[in-house]
Amino acid sequence: MSQGDEKRDNNDRGNTDRLSTAPGGAATPNWHAIEAPECLAQLASGSDGLSAAEAASRLAADGPNRLPEAPRRGPLVRFALQFHNLLIYVLLASALVSLLLGHLLDSLVILIVVVLNAIIGFLQEGKAERALDAIRAMIDPKATVLREGARRTVAADEVVCGDIVLLEAGDRVPADLRLLRSRNLRIDEAILTGESVPVEKTTAPVAEVAPLAERTAMAYSGTLVTGGQASGVVVAAGAATELGRISRLLGTVEEMKTPLIEQMDRFARQITLVVLGISAAAFVFAVLLRSYDMEEAFMAMVGLAVAAIPEGLPAVMTITLAVGVQRMAERNAIIRRLPAVETLGSVSVICSDKTGTLTRNEMTVQAVVTAEASYEVGGAGYIPAGAFTRAGIEVDPAQQAPLVDLIRAAVLCNDAETRQTEMQPADAAWLVDGDPMEGALVVLGAKAGLDVPALRKAIPRTDEIPFDAAHRFMATLHHDHEGNAFIVVKGAPERLLAMAHAARTRDGDRPIDREIWSARADDLAAQGQRVLAFAVKPAGAGQQSLTFADVEDGLVLLGLVGFIDPPRGEAVAAVAECQSAGIRVVMITGDHAITAREIGQQLGLARAPVVRTGDEIDRLDDADMARAVRDTTVFARTTPEHKLRLVSALQAQGLTVAMTGDGVNDAPALKRADVGVAMGCKGTEASKQAAEMVLADDNFASIVTAVKEGRTVYDNLRKVIGWTLPTNGGQAITILGAVAMGWTLPITPVQILWVNMVSAVALGMTLAFEPAEPGSMSRPPRRRDEPLISGEIAWQILLVTMLFAIFAFGMFFWAEQRGLPIEEARTIVVNTIVVLEIFYLFNVRYVHGSSLTWQGVLGTRAVLIGVGATVIAQLAFTYVPAFNAAFETRPMSLLDGAVILGAGVLLLIVIEAEKLLRRAVANARTGG
Ligand code: ATP
Repeated sequence: MSQGDEKRDNNDRGNTDRLSTAPGGAATPNWHAIEAPECLAQLASGSDGLSAAEAASRLAADGPNRLPEAPRRGPLVRFALQFHNLLIYVLLASALVSLLLGHLLDSLVILIVVVLNAIIGFLQEGKAERALDAIRAMIDPKATVLREGARRTVAADEVVCGDIVLLEAGDRVPADLRLLRSRNLRIDEAILTGESVPVEKTTAPVAEVAPLAERTAMAYSGTLVTGGQASGVVVAAGAATELGRISRLLGTVEEMKTPLIEQMDRFARQITLVVLGISAAAFVFAVLLRSYDMEEAFMAMVGLAVAAIPEGLPAVMTITLAVGVQRMAERNAIIRRLPAVETLGSVSVICSDKTGTLTRNEMTVQAVVTAEASYEVGGAGYIPAGAFTRAGIEVDPAQQAPLVDLIRAAVLCNDAETRQTEMQPADAAWLVDGDPMEGALVVLGAKAGLDVPALRKAIPRTDEIPFDAAHRFMATLHHDHEGNAFIVVKGAPERLLAMAHAARTRDGDRPIDREIWSARADDLAAQGQRVLAFAVKPAGAGQQSLTFADVEDGLVLLGLVGFIDPPRGEAVAAVAECQSAGIRVVMITGDHAITAREIGQQLGLARAPVVRTGDEIDRLDDADMARAVRDTTVFARTTPEHKLRLVSALQAQGLTVAMTGDGVNDAPALKRADVGVAMGCKGTEASKQAAEMVLADDNFASIVTAVKEGRTVYDNLRKVIGWTLPTNGGQAITILGAVAMGWTLPITPVQILWVNMVSAVALGMTLAFEPAEPGSMSRPPRRRDEPLISGEIAWQILLVTMLFAIFAFGMFFWAEQRGLPIEEARTIVVNTIVVLEIFYLFNVRYVHGSSLTWQGVLGTRAVLIGVGATVIAQLAFTYVPAFNAAFETRPMSLLDGAVILGAGVLLLIVIEAEKLLRRAVANARTGG
């Protein structure tokens, strides 16, 4: 995949260059002032759009429909910025003073460390940026175009001039369009004009001099369709669009920053200042009261500063986050806003749509009910083969007049098309362009032997009222070539029953018995089927447009259709995982309450799920609503407005809410939720832009995986902190203790720098790659306001800091007692600290369980590499003469090595015992 991406990148670059150097469109006609047919003619297109071959050749000639990328900071600037950091300033100043004091070697070592630090930071940043880029490329916008008269969904960057683009609510306009047809089209053009109130669009030309905001015959690239439907011909693509001209560049570079990282950045800066203060005070103390000479005291203070400042911390935290984001992307959860990575770990309720997220969204018609008969329909998926049976006996659908009427209506009041992929005919898959439910109706038509394209040509559509979740039906007006006109309506049964006065039977239309029909609909719903009703109404031959008043009454009901859309297998497992992780799952659906309850039960949301409908919610005041959200698992027949109210009610209970959405009207609820989750496949662009996270596979299970990764990232951040701070603290206390007592320093400043660089890079970094701890999804979610450094971690930091200092001093004194030279004693201390760090790393890896398990001892690949590299570095530090000269170290004896290892084991035993004790006490407390 990476190779493919690279290739695409290269292509893009080539084309972008060409586009941006193309003439700025001086000779471009004023499309907004020209009649639509003329625009089509000028663009050598027609009402059926371009042919596939023509589109391909235009794409090859003009390049993909993309804006040039925002310029990035060059590598040199990025490298230079690595030095812009308080700690680096402190180190550089120390190097300078050391040089002035004649410590050439020390200042050289400090400089090398500074440059090394910058190189590592630079590489890490590059890695993080590449991770984000790859993730961004996963959210490819799509566009619907007409090619040779057929609807096709294509990648937005494949749209070319002359293409006819179909727009509907929630779409992002993929290129500049001259509108050919518009039905209540409203577009939010804020990105271009700054005006956030949507603009009504029509097809009539406007004055040539009209400013951009008044060109109502145009739809501009990058703007959002907030309502209605339209089609338009592409007049400009890529850099030639208005958006390209104002060079509002897309894909701005996002920094790897989240509230936690910022908090740590601030924390690191504060520590730096405090440490500088303490160092200055200790310097005065050392010179005045402990009669250190100035030079020695200064070097000790440099050591203190270097020891105490957690210089590697922000970088390691950033990497931890980048690793988390990448892991989530591998599991189909694409993070659009980084802070969501942290919030995900504390999610306590997931509100999920049903269709397509919890279910497969592979609809198949299973039942058709007319006034006099119920039919079962065979077959699976979208393959157009399956028999109609009635009470188990096969029937010829063509002989069943009311059934044929219903199915004809179902394919006419329908925007979907099905087609076969161009694979081997044997295993060719059938695909739907459009809504899967409508696709299933086209398949139903084919099963009944109808030639759907021919029928649609013979009885063309003159006008329509598009489906909207708010009114729950769709209507179309048709005229046949004999001048007969009629209206077809399909929608939620209770809606159509209210609008119908008669039902079709074999012997003509009869008055409707709503109770019987409603019981029939409930019967289908109780089997978990999604039910649609169909109706017709005659229209005047001259009627050319359709309004709500036309369909309010007088409909003749043709019958009901029941679809199955089975729950996703993995969603059932994910729901169970949520339950053990203390996360509630709430299903929100536009579907009927009875269908929703049945599916909820199949998913295991609850044994007997409490269902509430949108109408019931409307009748609740805020206090009742607060009570209702506590026990309701399924919300049915809801609209997006209900979702917004629901999120607010759940948040008012102190819960952290993840909410899914796909429609244009879901955007407010997605924005309001703590983690808004949009659907990558069926979601509108509007919902994706409002969301924090996009699911590449629309799958509920991916949300749960992301939550698990979110918990892991948070745990790892805590581990990084819990490991780094005491290792720094231990060294700082060692120096401070020595100064306070007037002892020789057990470790020199450059040695401390060495320890910090080697260990932070090779050891601390491994924590970023830690997998989830066992049982991470059997704990309740973390409270959102829980501090990162809790009392428990603070205690652990203090304890380990003290243990480090005790071991360091102990080894130092023991070496001195044996009369070893100071260089060798210091070498022993440095090795002790590094070995303690290694053993402590194994302890920190398991916050919630014991580290003394086989899995714990064996570690991960990252840990083993890190430890291996550290051991090699320490051997060089101790035994290679060049290192001995640079760091003033000496080879040490095997006995010392063994004792140091023993110290490591002792440390591990002490802190594991402490962990065990702490857990036992906590358990006793909760048990009591
Ligand atoms: P979810 O919210 O779980 O995705 P949903 O897809 O059932 O559920 P909506 O799309 O809001 O939610 O649909 C609500 C109801 O509107 C459906 O149950 C159906 O009765 C009706 N409906 C859905 N799509 C269409 C359509 N294309 N034409 C006519 N009626 C429709």
